[in-house]
Amino acid sequence: MFLPQKIAIVCLHLKIYICISVQKMSNDPSLSYKENENIFRTLIEESPTPVGLYVGREMVIHLANQAILKVWGKDESIIGKTFSQALPELEGQPFFQLLDDVYTSGIAYEATEDRVDLLANGQMQTFYFNFIYKPLKDKEGNVWGILNTATDVTELVITRQKLAASEDRIQFALDSAELGTWDIDRLAGTIIWNNRCRELYGFREGEKVTITNVRDHVHPDDAERITESVRIAVDPKTGGDYDDTFRIISPIDQKITWIKCKGKAYFNNEGVCTRFSGTTLDITKDIQTREEQQRLLKQFEFVTGFMPVQLWTAKTDGELDYVNERTVEYFGVPAEDIVGPAWQTFVHPDDFAACIDVWAHSLTTGDPYQFEFRLKDKEGVYKWHLARALPFKNDGEIVKWFGTNTDIDDQKQLQRQKDDFLGIASHELKTPVTSIKAYAQVLGAMLTKEGETKKAEMVLRMDAQVNRLTNLIGDLLDVTKINSGRLQFNKTWFDFNQVIKETVEDLQHTTQKHTLTTDFSKTGKVYSDKDRIGQVITNLITNAIKYSPQSEKIIISTKLENAEVTVCVQDFGIGIPTDKTDRVFEQFYRVSGNKQHTFPGLGLGLYISSEIIRREGGRMWVNSVEGKGSTFCFALPADDKETNTL
Ligand code: ADP
Repeated sequence: MFLPQKIAIVCLHLKIYICISVQKMSNDPSLSYKENENIFRTLIEESPTPVGLYVGREMVIHLANQAILKVWGKDESIIGKTFSQALPELEGQPFFQLLDDVYTSGIAYEATEDRVDLLANGQMQTFYFNFIYKPLKDKEGNVWGILNTATDVTELVITRQKLAASEDRIQFALDSAELGTWDIDRLAGTIIWNNRCRELYGFREGEKVTITNVRDHVHPDDAERITESVRIAVDPKTGGDYDDTFRIISPIDQKITWIKCKGKAYFNNEGVCTRFSGTTLDITKDIQTREEQQRLLKQFEFVTGFMPVQLWTAKTDGELDYVNERTVEYFGVPAEDIVGPAWQTFVHPDDFAACIDVWAHSLTTGDPYQFEFRLKDKEGVYKWHLARALPFKNDGEIVKWFGTNTDIDDQKQLQRQKDDFLGIASHELKTPVTSIKAYAQVLGAMLTKEGETKKAEMVLRMDAQVNRLTNLIGDLLDVTKINSGRLQFNKTWFDFNQVIKETVEDLQHTTQKHTLTTDFSKTGKVYSDKDRIGQVITNLITNAIKYSPQSEKIIISTKLENAEVTVCVQDFGIGIPTDKTDRVFEQFYRVSGNKQHTFPGLGLGLYISSEIIRREGGRMWVNSVEGKGSTFCFALPADDKETNTL
């Protein structure tokens, strides 16, 4: 039961609309105290603001409106219980103590956004409240109860917490990117910026800054340009976006900082720019790196400029991105008309397809590029060049190709003259040598008939030497034919093993020391030039005989595998040093160059053999160990039918 004066006190403390009504009512003489109390109770209970009234030091809940019951998650059954009985879950939180303190001291306690953990829907949940514990006093000033009003600000606090967290994240991102931010209020003429931005512009912490001060720090060479780009940005007709790069001179140590500034202007309804804000980034290192790269590039161009070869660089897709002075001079067009894919227009049409194939192969595999082709000079004359390029790698990745084109036209000319000479000379030698051979055979037959066996034997030896001479002339002729692309092939189907067997039998007659052993597997037929294949086998076996003077055995084996027929000639002779094995197929190359008298030869046999095999669609190789012997092999495509039936 409330006393009238207590109602008035409660109303004094409850600064809400209901109090005004209650005060009015309590002053109304027509209403009894009882009626006043009922009205008061009703108004508090209907109030949307949580209100609770606790009486005595025990804090007996005399009144708790629907709003506060809802906050607590309780019902009316708690009325009449003490605060601690009604809300035991508050044990361990500061509220019981706070109420007691207010009761003792008579001083109100006011909390803003205080955390309260309450039992809601059967589980403890965190809420935030603005609440007041107001002591209620009697006439003598003694506290008799506490009025508790509260406002649930949980949503507000959580939203603010989320906002703060997201601001933290943004700040973290800005800090990590070392990004400065700035925001200019154009009407007030003030700037708000983060520390990073202030540092970039070279201002001290706490220094008062105006837009004019900012301009003072800009490098004089950039100032005018910036004024113009800002003017465009804040002009509603042209602007909005701002993006500029300029230098700041620090007033502290005169250090120059390159800044990339990006911004946006905001306009009001009258089209006046009211706000202009954006970001700043220190790009000094990038600029320095770019300048360093440009310096290196200039050095590179300077060095390559006077080099006597055409020098170029290409991107990983094969397009040229740089050519030196010499290249520009040769083609007689500006560099722009050579770089990119344009260089291809200068390649001779007959060399073009192969050149592109070889270049594409290098680009995909990373293998060094090497190719001989004709390039059209500024007079429209094609000249032979040797192109070479190597990939430049960074961390194992190809980033660029560096190449040269060397003029080899004079060499090619000499080579042509030499080939022409060899062609004519060997052709001219062939006829008299053939006659000598014929005369020698007739003479041999005559002497044998006359019983002049000794003389006949001499003529036979002469015939053997004439045969050697014929072979040498044959080799020279073949080389000239290969080099001029005139080597003819007369292809037929023939039994591979059979041809090898016949060749081996013929050659066995030429040596008493060596035994030619065969180890044949079924090979079937091949489609090729029988005589040329015989010529290759002859070359391999005669080499095996020539280069194994201390051993007797030579093994000739054949096999059919993976749609290829393979023949190998193995000897147990002098062998070839590992670093020279690849070179023995080159024209005029001789490993035994300094042993000319021991092993005579021109260094042409293997070159001719490998060219024949290559042109027949096959391949040739050697395995050799110096001092132990060599195995020369070649493989040719086999007849499909034969492969399948085996
Ligand atoms: P040639 O024998 O007339 O010198 P080839 O072209 O037939 O020319 O051989 C090239 C070189 O390869 C020879 O000079 C020799 O040094 C080496 N060579 C060829 N066959 C053999 C072999 N069976 N054993 C060791 N070396 C060989």
